[in-house]
Amino acid sequence: MATAHHDVPEPDALTRPYWEAAAQGRLLVRRCGACGRAHHYPREFCPHCWSEEVTWEEAAGRATLYTWSTVHHNDLPPFTGRTPYTAAVVDLAEGPRMMTEVVGCEAADLVAGMALRVAFRDGTPVFEPAGPAG
Ligand SMILES: [Zn+2]
Repeated sequence: MATAHHDVPEPDALTRPYWEAAAQGRLLVRRCGACGRAHHYPREFCPHCWSEEVTWEEAAGRATLYTWSTVHHNDLPPFTGRTPYTAAVVDLAEGPRMMTEVVGCEAADLVAGMALRVAFRDGTPVFEPAGPAG
């Protein structure tokens, strides 16, 4: 049995910058220096070409709505007591597809492809309708 785990990186060490930035109201994505594509959720390797040449980049915070569903029951914290909410998958302007939550809009008013912008709630990136251009 292996007993020493002290040399194993913390599981969240990779994503810590992401959450620290989110706490400051900034959305980060990972950009691959080899193939130029961005990805989300943060990984150590580019999921497109497996290069390790990935760096942090601040996202513009713009996205379009890909799909969504209204969640009425969720017993897992921190969702308890927050239902119903709109779980959504959005396409970031940088390219990556991201699982998130849409706020500030009735589910009935959501339209596939609608423009969204990032908002932050309790240090977690969520998205809201971008509204009229400008
Ligand atoms: Zn790549």
